[in-house]
Amino acid sequence: MDVARRAQRWCEYCLWHEEDAGFPHQMDHVISRKHGGLSSVENLAYACVLCNRHKGTDVSSVDKRTGNVVRLFHPRRDRWADHFRIDG
Ligand SMILES: [Zn+2]
Repeated sequence: MDVARRAQRWCEYCLWHEEDAGFPHQMDHVISRKHGGLSSVENLAYACVLCNRHKGTDVSSVDKRTGNVVRLFHPRRDRWADHFRIDG
């Protein structure tokens, strides 16, 4: 399965469509190769440049409100609405 076709060319993190971005989206390793992630379709997500750069190789981060370490959104396992919301 083609990763871009599966995502219908939407960034799987911020839902920015590639046509509106003005530059091509990229393949993101959900679990980075640095952490043992494979370049398999299951582990690849279609991501805009901004999301891909911001996420980098991270798989977790610190929640600013609670100070707890939290796992980052996984497009294959998580529901988008449980992690993000559209504001405005
Ligand atoms: Zn994005």
